[in-house]
Amino acid sequence: MKCINCGTKCNSLYRHYSKDIIQLEHCIHCKELVDKYIEFDPVIICLDALLLKREAFQHVLSNNSTQAQWKLTSILLLFDAYTKLVHQRQNGDQINRPMPDSVLYSAFEWDLYFNYFIAVIELVICICVILMVFAIASRIKPSLEKLGFNEIVRAILLSNFGKVLVIPAVFWGYNEMYVWLTAIFVCASNVQAFRVLCPSWPAIFSAVVVISSHVIASTTGSIIYNFHFAFK
Ligand SMILES: [Zn+2]
Repeated sequence: MKCINCGTKCNSLYRHYSKDIIQLEHCIHCKELVDKYIEFDPVIICLDALLLKREAFQHVLSNNSTQAQWKLTSILLLFDAYTKLVHQRQNGDQINRPMPDSVLYSAFEWDLYFNYFIAVIELVICICVILMVFAIASRIKPSLEKLGFNEIVRAILLSNFGKVLVIPAVFWGYNEMYVWLTAIFVCASNVQAFRVLCPSWPAIFSAVVVISSHVIASTTGSIIYNFHFAFK
């Protein structure tokens, strides 16, 4: 557990006075409340996270034991897959697909499954690149903060929440510029997550690692897609 304001480690976030009454702890370093978000509605926390507030990220990554990252990821991957599919259809890439007015069209939406597979591959590559670079950097500079495997993966998965922003672009009319802006937001969110988890690392380093991992992942996804359709 950490103070959301200064990142100082603490033993507890609050103390019980009675069954229903708690008092939030104050940080021994900055004297502020260790984590004000404990009493906040999840919607407020989500809104602050959307504003990329460092405190909200610290609350979710350091003081919240949620293990919902995989459920969130499976939904985000579906958004990813659907966005890719819409993009491909906008560009007229798909061939030999069933007619949209077919009764079983949605039930046999194989293109969506294929795009889901590509989205999974992209995510795995993104995580692998970040893990690899952080492992190498930790060896080169052992004095810097070290992050565990689970910590890094959880940070990436949870900070990908910005992909939900792509929903309006998909359902209310596909707009490539909006999809790009969402991708930039997701990168910024990933960087903010690493800035919170390892403040001793230079922000520019986290930014370069995150952007590179996304570029490599998306390039690999395009190669797999083109390779698949070249032999279809
Ligand atoms: Zn503090």
